[in-house]
Amino acid sequence: VPPATRSRTRAEIDLGAVRHNVRALKSRANDARLMAVVKADAYGHGAAPVARAAVEAGADSLAVVTAEEGAELRRAGLKAPILVFTDLLPDKLLLARQHRLAVTAHSVESAKRVSSVPDLRAHLKVNTGMNRWGVEPAEVGEARGILGGQLAGIYTHFASADSDAETTRLQTERFGAVLADQPLGGLLVHAANSAALLWHPASHYGCVRPGIAVYGLHPAGDKGDPAEEDLRPAMSLKSYVAGVRRLSPGEGVSYGLTFRAGEATFAAIVPVGYAEGYRRSLSGAAYALIRGARRPLLGRVTMDACIFGVDGGVEVGDEVALVGEQGAEKVSAEELGRLGGTINYEITTGINPRRVERSYT
Ligand code: PLP
Repeated sequence: VPPATRSRTRAEIDLGAVRHNVRALKSRANDARLMAVVKADAYGHGAAPVARAAVEAGADSLAVVTAEEGAELRRAGLKAPILVFTDLLPDKLLLARQHRLAVTAHSVESAKRVSSVPDLRAHLKVNTGMNRWGVEPAEVGEARGILGGQLAGIYTHFASADSDAETTRLQTERFGAVLADQPLGGLLVHAANSAALLWHPASHYGCVRPGIAVYGLHPAGDKGDPAEEDLRPAMSLKSYVAGVRRLSPGEGVSYGLTFRAGEATFAAIVPVGYAEGYRRSLSGAAYALIRGARRPLLGRVTMDACIFGVDGGVEVGDEVALVGEQGAEKVSAEELGRLGGTINYEITTGINPRRVERSYT
């Protein structure tokens, strides 16, 4: 069995890249602490191994979105402080306390719920313009009063740090006004996602909260190249050629036969489909690398397979790079995001770990 066929489609995660990225980000954030955002299974990279690598490289704490995600990290032996970003219902607040997770109070009502669970630590999230989670600035005093000694941090989140400096400046100003009104002694103050960490140093405060950049992906999607920010992509998505067939002129491939061969060509069948998280919106638009060359995706992505146009030199067992590099060629998550009508975040987060085996180097 050729090495590439040990599993259908696999994600290779370079933990050295994660460590490099954390160090590079920390050096950009001067004296701020770094909270590595490993929610959603570390954006599809695998929460526990990524969290361990991030902590090894100097991350001071971790962030997740559900209590279960935090509990999973504790079970894997992670001892670093963990913050849960969103609303938790009462039974999940108990789970959070059991695993020593700090939770987020994002409204006066949620502060009351948090305060009903003694010994649970909380960060207060302030709405400065994203209008998703967060107490209004005018309610910060009331929420603080409810949380009392449970309060460990105060934070906000930017709506467009990747694309709109003026809005980010305005949000930072609003947050600054809230902070100026508060005694901050002992509270961890934080705001910066990856984009703000890289491009809005006024938002660094005591701690930065990068997610996407930890994985070596660009916060502005395909509008930039991670290498320009000294970031190294951590995930390669690989598969193999499971079959090759010859297409005669006029023959179509895949559902709907939406691609038709203009001249005689070869088609490589690759066992990756939208069940793996290789999005159907990539149909007819994406490329994969086989034998060091870019090969076009022909017709529709199906649930379990898709078909790439190749030449007669391609053989069964050849490695296919769906995301990653081969020789001088590269297909990035940023490029797939653009071609699939989405963003790099969704490309990696959407990889289905029940179908796609991960390996770590
Ligand atoms: N902070 C909060 C509250 C978030 O929800 C996220 C992710 O969306 C992040 C930080 C990390 O953002 P990014 O992945 O853009 O760095």
